[in-house]
Amino acid sequence: SATPSSNFLRAIIEADLAAGTHTRPGLPKVITRFPPEPNGYLHIGHAKSICLNFGLARDYAGRCHLRFDDTNPEKEDQEYVDTIMDSVRWLGFDWKQDEDAIETEYLHYASDYFDQLYAMAEYLIQTGYAYVDSQSAADMAANRGNFGEAGKNSPFRNRPAAESLDLLRRMKAGEFEDGAHILRAKISEDAMASPNMNMRDPAIYRIRHAHHHRTGDDWCIYPMYDFTHPLSDAIEQITHSICTLEFQDHRPFYDWVIERCAEGGFFKQPVPHQFEFARLNLTYVVTSKRKLRQLVENGTVSGWDDPRMPTIVGIRRRGYTPESIQLFCERIGVTRSDGWIDYSTLEGCLREDLDPKAPRTVAVLRPLKLIIDNFPENVSIACTAPVHPHHPERGNREFNISRELWIEADDFMEVPSKGYFRLFPGNKVRLRYGYVVECTGCDKDADGNVIAVHCTYFPDSKSGTEGSANYKVKGNLHWVSAAHAVATEVRLYDRLFTDANPDAGGKDFMTLLNPNALQVVNAYLEAGIETAQADDKYQFERHGYFVADRVDSTPGKPVFNRVTTLKDSWGK
Ligand code: ATP
Ligand code: MG
Ligand code: MG
Repeated sequence: SATPSSNFLRAIIEADLAAGTHTRPGLPKVITRFPPEPNGYLHIGHAKSICLNFGLARDYAGRCHLRFDDTNPEKEDQEYVDTIMDSVRWLGFDWKQDEDAIETEYLHYASDYFDQLYAMAEYLIQTGYAYVDSQSAADMAANRGNFGEAGKNSPFRNRPAAESLDLLRRMKAGEFEDGAHILRAKISEDAMASPNMNMRDPAIYRIRHAHHHRTGDDWCIYPMYDFTHPLSDAIEQITHSICTLEFQDHRPFYDWVIERCAEGGFFKQPVPHQFEFARLNLTYVVTSKRKLRQLVENGTVSGWDDPRMPTIVGIRRRGYTPESIQLFCERIGVTRSDGWIDYSTLEGCLREDLDPKAPRTVAVLRPLKLIIDNFPENVSIACTAPVHPHHPERGNREFNISRELWIEADDFMEVPSKGYFRLFPGNKVRLRYGYVVECTGCDKDADGNVIAVHCTYFPDSKSGTEGSANYKVKGNLHWVSAAHAVATEVRLYDRLFTDANPDAGGKDFMTLLNPNALQVVNAYLEAGIETAQADDKYQFERHGYFVADRVDSTPGKPVFNRVTTLKDSWGK
């Protein structure tokens, strides 16, 4: 595979390796982690984080942990844990490094640390770095202040440590309702005036009488993300904790809480550091889990794995390959400044991956009958075409030509427009891999719609024979024999939104849906395609890349999804 291009994170890691920063007995010098919350399906943005974290571990002989950040019991579920694991593996990564790896070293759940985290919370109270606040939620919000305006200390901020400790224990024992008390960090005397809102006595434990998908009813208090995340990193001895830029303002608390707990002997040195990179923003796509959920729940799409969805399960079903996603993540690189990646970059990576691999076949997507009037009835003649034009070693495919064919409706014009060199009365074209034909006219229904085109063929013009050289024609049409073609459903997918930034501020993404994001057609395909297995990918000549749908295909009856067209034709 290609040498990974350098980026600022690689530079940091290489400097750390050179300095021996993370040299510890029995541990790799690079340990990263991918920390999803199991509250939804992974999407293309997560793929960037996965490729980055697992890719760095792979390239520097390290380890990348999969850690479920499961501290919001109401929103989380085992279903999501399962699909996340599945998606990471499908992308080509594995948290388990090798056969002998011990599961507890690489697969983690923040909920496994609940006892340790709780002990650290008590320790912070005892050392004067945390207190139980009993203000109402409204007072707490009001006293937090705003940007540019200092907040006010809680009246409970200076309650004795023993009182906070007693309250925390009673919170844990279930004596209070949700929201009655909250445990907060006490960072410094003037923390409530900090210009960084995240440093104004952030909450670290809250009461939630909720069933947790792993710890059941053991707990009715749960640690906050900003407390759990750094401490989980430190427990796992992560070396480089890589997250998106919006967490930059959380880094001071990340460092503070790790430092306090390290002083209490909870961790080994050196402790982890957080590094931020720009999240993936992809044009024509929304990646907010909340918005994706809305599309599923209001029936805009058929489910999380609808091929129009940017979820990993969706793009997989659409026909994207893990290699194309890895190539995409490599190509877009890692930077520290936010920007937008054009959707066509993703499509380009898919074409680049599939072009050398995908076998060629023919499909007529909007069929119109072509009748070769001088071709004998009940006769078929074999034609051959390469499986792949640049790989002769992959051999040929064979299919029949006969008197009645299907061609694309737009390959005929009764009155040709300027520069049109396909079928029109009096014009000659080549039926690809077959014969040259001359158009003689068409049949119409009572409303004037063309229902069949007529032509005559030149028996000495067959492709691959000597006589074929005598015919010079501009048009080269694809076709299938009506008697032999496989009739099946083909779904023509396109971008889900018409607006390049459906997620941008002030816009209602639901009003920007592309009405043509899915068109279902009854197509005729080259004989032989009926043996396609779910997930098999092809190039349909002249049309693009297609995949046998992994959900709706049945043995002997594949249905196809268009992954992407041959060229970027959006907006043209
Ligand atoms: P939500 O949409 O609910 O806020 P999230 O996107 O933060 O969820 P997590 O499960 O917390 O989802 O994300 C796991 C990891 O994936 C985090 O480290 C997060 O930074 C990263 N990630 C999420 N979205 C993107 C993105 N668009 N680009 C790069 N990384 C991302
Ligand atoms: Mg998150
Ligand atoms: Mg997010």
